[in-house]
Amino acid sequence: MTQDEILREMGLGPVWKLRAKAAAVPAAESMAPAVTEPQQEPAPPAAAADKTGLSWDELASTVAACRLCRLCEARKQAVLGVGDRHADWLFVGEGPGAEEDLRGEPFVGQAGKLLDNMLAAIGLRRGADVYIANAVKCRPPENRTPTPEETATCRPYLERQIELIQPKLIVALGRPAAQTLLQSEVKIGAERGKLHDYRGIPLIVTYHPAYLLRTLQDKARAWEDLCFMRRTMKTLKGN
Ligand code: SF4
Repeated sequence: MTQDEILREMGLGPVWKLRAKAAAVPAAESMAPAVTEPQQEPAPPAAAADKTGLSWDELASTVAACRLCRLCEARKQAVLGVGDRHADWLFVGEGPGAEEDLRGEPFVGQAGKLLDNMLAAIGLRRGADVYIANAVKCRPPENRTPTPEETATCRPYLERQIELIQPKLIVALGRPAAQTLLQSEVKIGAERGKLHDYRGIPLIVTYHPAYLLRTLQDKARAWEDLCFMRRTMKTLKGN
């Protein structure tokens, strides 16, 4: 049975149909070196070049050296992502925070602990059949929300990650991640509990763990979302 047939059986046809053609990312050799030079102007957003075909190593070095948007100016390092590069599960957050910027790994602060707990609740563990990434790879100053221009400029890196991972299910944690992937205005409260579609891959949106730390009353909804994710993956795997 094909994935589409499975989803139809579940009564969970894709809600969104995608989507605008992706902006391109420059090839590795066209990028500036990974040196923090505050006086250096970043390149204009969405500079044109082809990111298709980049290997994981090429993608990692390209992101490490990237200066395509202003988020490069205050970062300590770009944070590509962490986990199993052939995972069935892909979780996508918003962007690195202070601790992530220091350590070079997404979701390592308080929100990261909560995400680990959420993963454990559905029998998952960071790095084991799970990959974790962010919509933007560099820390927004003062942990502000990345602008639409910043997420659009960074999006081809995430798109290439998804092409390389080929996850069975994508979970968008919070609005910026959901909007980046779905290329549409998203209100998490309205779109959670539905099965969306990212280029043929089922996608579920839920609250960002940092939001849940501030908004305890939505933890019950997050639990419902976790149960929905687990049911969906079981169906996708045919068990
Ligand atoms: S956020 Fe993305 S596009 Fe902006 S500098 Fe970092 S890697 Fe490049």
